[in-house]
Amino acid sequence: MKLVHRRAVLLRCLTGGAGCLMAASASAQPLPSAQPSAQSYFPKSTHNQAGYLDHAQPELRLCGACNFFLNPDECQIVEGPINAYGSCDYYED
Ligand code: SF4
Repeated sequence: MKLVHRRAVLLRCLTGGAGCLMAASASAQPLPSAQPSAQSYFPKSTHNQAGYLDHAQPELRLCGACNFFLNPDECQIVEGPINAYGSCDYYED
């Protein structure tokens, strides 16, 4: 892959030079996520550690309404799979 310096790309774009977009795409690198996932900071809890119930009683607060729930079956802090109708001790509004 050809190494293109950022300054050269900017200069081409500012002067209207050919290949501006091609050079820009060649030098494009994936941007880091604005908000790193919770997984990058600490390991997820197991179902047992979290007191997870796969099918919670209707009066319990359900995973599908929890701030940590990731549709369709993941959780930011508890290992999956997670049922939207489950619940655990870490529930957060
Ligand atoms: S209640 Fe919240 S923290 Fe607990 S498993 Fe469900 S989504 Fe994750």
